[in-house]
Amino acid sequence: MTSLTLALSKGRILEDTLPLLAAAGIEPEEDPLDSRKLVFATNREGLRLLVIRAADVPTFVAYGAADLGVAGKDVLIEHGGQDLYEPLDLGIAKCRLMVAGLPGALEGAANRPLRVATKYIETARAHFARAGRQVELIKLYGSMELAPIVGLADVIVDLVDTGNTLRANGLEPFETIREISSRLVVNKAAMKMKHDRIEELLDVFNRTTEAQRTQSRAGGK
Ligand code: AMP
Repeated sequence: MTSLTLALSKGRILEDTLPLLAAAGIEPEEDPLDSRKLVFATNREGLRLLVIRAADVPTFVAYGAADLGVAGKDVLIEHGGQDLYEPLDLGIAKCRLMVAGLPGALEGAANRPLRVATKYIETARAHFARAGRQVELIKLYGSMELAPIVGLADVIVDLVDTGNTLRANGLEPFETIREISSRLVVNKAAMKMKHDRIEELLDVFNRTTEAQRTQSRAGGK
């Protein structure tokens, strides 16, 4: 039987992915949320899971180290994504990629380049170029919310879900760059070489996400 490797994004996305896998009848040998292992066999013959940093998922899949992956649209846009197929929006880990800062931050920087702290350098560059706004981009790897508070940047570009993190740090959302959700991505060569097995898995995910959408619509969510 053809073996398949599915790369999963650690963190928030993993918390939403595991119930989806369970609904699709895929069970890891042990709970990835409660383990330091990086590779997990599953109850499906020949299907194994990798649990890796979200930003690394497109790289593992593009190089064929994983046949498929679950990655946030934020990470896919930043990666470029041209070397991957993106056949399915899983509808999980939904949030918004936003510009945020202390009240008045945009007006305060009206006559000079806006200093933007983010881990999404390419996405932010493209966004402000479209808006015709000159920016100075500052790459950070985490805790973006701190940057405006300590004067490192005027604004941040980061993911916002409930808005609690912004509020807790006295920041305001200014603008949504785009809505984000997690996608299933597939290595292009694997799509040809392992077509039947990948189609079978895509079909299972398609039916599961569709059933969950119908359920949440019925639940009035
Ligand atoms: P919240 O306080 O619920 O608005 O969440 C904001 C924090 O969680 C920020 O630090 C974000 O980078 C992170 N975050 C929110 N949604 C996601 C997501 N879908 N995937 C990864 N990180 C997220």
